[in-house]
Amino acid sequence: MSGAPERLADIRRRIEEAAKAAKRDPASVTLVAVSKTFPIEDIRPVIEAGQRVFGENRVQEAMAKWPILREETPDIELHLIGPLQSNKAKEAVMLFDVIHTVDRDKIAAALAKEIESQGRHPKLLVQVNTGEEDQKAGISPLEAVAFVERCRKEHGLKIEGLMCIPPVDENPAPHFALLDQLADEAQVAWRSMGMSSDFEIAIGQGATHVRVGSAIFGHRDYPA
Ligand SMILES: *Cc1c(COP(=O)(O)O)cnc(C)c1O
Repeated sequence: MSGAPERLADIRRRIEEAAKAAKRDPASVTLVAVSKTFPIEDIRPVIEAGQRVFGENRVQEAMAKWPILREETPDIELHLIGPLQSNKAKEAVMLFDVIHTVDRDKIAAALAKEIESQGRHPKLLVQVNTGEEDQKAGISPLEAVAFVERCRKEHGLKIEGLMCIPPVDENPAPHFALLDQLADEAQVAWRSMGMSSDFEIAIGQGATHVRVGSAIFGHRDYPA
């Protein structure tokens, strides 16, 4: 049985190969290690193996884990990849360096207010619901470009990129292609796309951030 550090090394190798196959610089792809549901003891060995960029999907859970881990390792970069409620905007701006899930005006306004009052500037991405699934967060692809514009002009936010989670039972490639195209139209550089099962495909289609959880940390005992 290999442990998380070995699996991390394997994922890093696969990212490098996928980037080379796509004639891209491997350094243009950031690995976000998704540690949701895993306790501090499981995360520490991955930090010790050199990983610095982590993703969590719940503000409360991240608040309980990361201040402690950051005290030990100050150069951690923490990403929020789960849905954000406007009443958690304050904690989110305090804790996270990157927020992937801006998807409506109410959240954009709440983040703008907190960024202003805290003077902290997490980088922001807009989540796009590329599959237009009812249960899934994210702005509709038809409204995405206009929403990025509103974030800039009405809310005064800088948007770095777009993020998507394709429908589980579909070929992800057309969703990644759509996100890439929308990012071009919105004139943003980052594309957060690709998870354990499809990050190589995403890299082939321009992913700048891949969010990999179970392939590093192992199976999650409870859904997140
Ligand atoms: C859980 C999660 C991931 C990681 O999923 P794995 O399949 O375990 O790699 C990536 N992105 C988001 C938004 C998630 O919630």
